[in-house]
Amino acid sequence: NEVTTYDFKNIIANFKISSGNFDIKPFGSGHINDTFLLTTEPGYEDAYLLQKINHFVFKNIDGLMNNMLRVINHLKEKAEKAEKAEKAGRPAKETLTLVQCKNNKYYCQDHQGNYWRMTLFLKDTQSYDLVTTTKQAYQGGCAFGNFHCLLCDLDPALLVDTIPDFLNIEKRLDSLTIAIKKNSAGLVRSVRSELFFLLERANSMGEILQLGRAGILPLRITHNDTKFNNILLNQHDEVQCVIDLDTVMPGYIAYDFGDAVRSIINTAAEDEKDLDAIQLNMPLFEAFAKGYLGKTVSFLTEQELKSLVKGVLLLPYMQAVRFLTDYLEGDVYYKTHFPGHNLQRARAQIQLFKMLESKKGKLTDIIQQEWLQLKNDLGVLKA
Ligand code: ADP
Ligand code: MG
Ligand code: MG
Repeated sequence: NEVTTYDFKNIIANFKISSGNFDIKPFGSGHINDTFLLTTEPGYEDAYLLQKINHFVFKNIDGLMNNMLRVINHLKEKAEKAEKAEKAGRPAKETLTLVQCKNNKYYCQDHQGNYWRMTLFLKDTQSYDLVTTTKQAYQGGCAFGNFHCLLCDLDPALLVDTIPDFLNIEKRLDSLTIAIKKNSAGLVRSVRSELFFLLERANSMGEILQLGRAGILPLRITHNDTKFNNILLNQHDEVQCVIDLDTVMPGYIAYDFGDAVRSIINTAAEDEKDLDAIQLNMPLFEAFAKGYLGKTVSFLTEQELKSLVKGVLLLPYMQAVRFLTDYLEGDVYYKTHFPGHNLQRARAQIQLFKMLESKKGKLTDIIQQEWLQLKNDLGVLKA
C-alpha cells in the first residue's frame, strides 16, 4: 500500500497549512507523479493534493517549481485583470494554487530524498481520460487556447526546459538511428517496413523546428502534455483549470495543438491492436479546433495557423518514433504490459498518422474555415 510507504506526518509538517488529522488517499490516474488527496473529514473543508514529483523524469526540480510558480502567478494576475475589466458576469478562471512550505519554497524533500509539493484541491471538478462529446472537445480547445493566450506575453526565456529536447524530433530521430545501429535486442530486421515508413518522412517532420530556428514560428510558452486528463471540468463539463504544469516550457504552439488532437481525434486507444479500429472522429476535431481558435485568433500569426496541421501530423509521428526506439532498445523507457507492446503502440501511431495524412486537406479546410469566420466576426465587431 502506497499510503504506508511514506512518512506523511513529517512531509505534511513542512507545509504552511493548519495541522489536522488528514485522511490520505491515492488520487487520479496520472502516470508520472504520485498524487494523494488529503482531506479532513467530514465535509472536505480543507482539501489538498500532495504530489511526489517524479525526479527520475524531472532532474531539475528547483527549475521546474520556479517555472510552475512563475506561470501560475502570471495566470492569476491575468485572471484578476480580466475580471476587473469585464466586471461581474463570468466566474474567475481558476488556476492551480501552490501551498508554500515553512522554508518559503514551494516544495520540500523527505528523508528518502523524494520531492513533494502541495496544491489546493479543486472541488467539484473532474478530469476525463477519454473525450466522448463535442462539448468536452470544445471546452478542451478553449482551455488550451486560453492557456496559450494568457501566457503569450510572458517571456519564454524566463523558463527552463524541464526535460531538455522533449519534443525535438531531430533528437528523437537521432536516438532511433542509434538504436538501429546498436540493434541491441536483434529486432531491426523484423520492423523494416515500419522503419522505412518513418525514415522516409524524417525530413518533412523537421519542418516546425526549421521554421522555429528561422524565426518564422515564434517560441512561446507551451504546456507540452495536452492530454485531456490534464484539464479539470466542472459538473456541467465546462473548463475550470489546466493542470499538470510540469512540462510547461518554451515550445511551439503546434506541439500542444497536435498532441491534444492526437488523443481527441482517435476513435481507438493509443495502443490499439486492431488497426482498422483506428478511425478519425472529425466532429471532435472540429469542436476542439473551434474552441482553440476562438481563444487564440487575437494573437496567432498566419504562420502559426498554418503550422497547426503540421503539429497534428508531427505528434503521432514523434510518438511512433519514440515507441519504436524503445522497442528496439528492449523496452527500457515505457512500461510494457506484454512482449511487443511498444511495437503495437508504434504501429497504432503509424496507422493514426496515415489516417491523418490522408485527411490533411480536410483538416486544413476545417481550421481555415473557422479562422475566416472568427476574423470576420472580429471585423464586424470592430466596425
Ligand atoms: P501526472 O503528471 O501524474 O499526470 P497530474 O498533476 O496530472 O499528475 O495529477 C493527476 C490527476 O490528479 C489529474 O489527472 C487530476 O485528475 C487530479 N488533479 C491534479 N491536480 C488537481 C487539483 N488541484 N484539484 C483536483 N484534482 C487534481
Ligand atoms: Mg496529468
Ligand atoms: Mg504530468
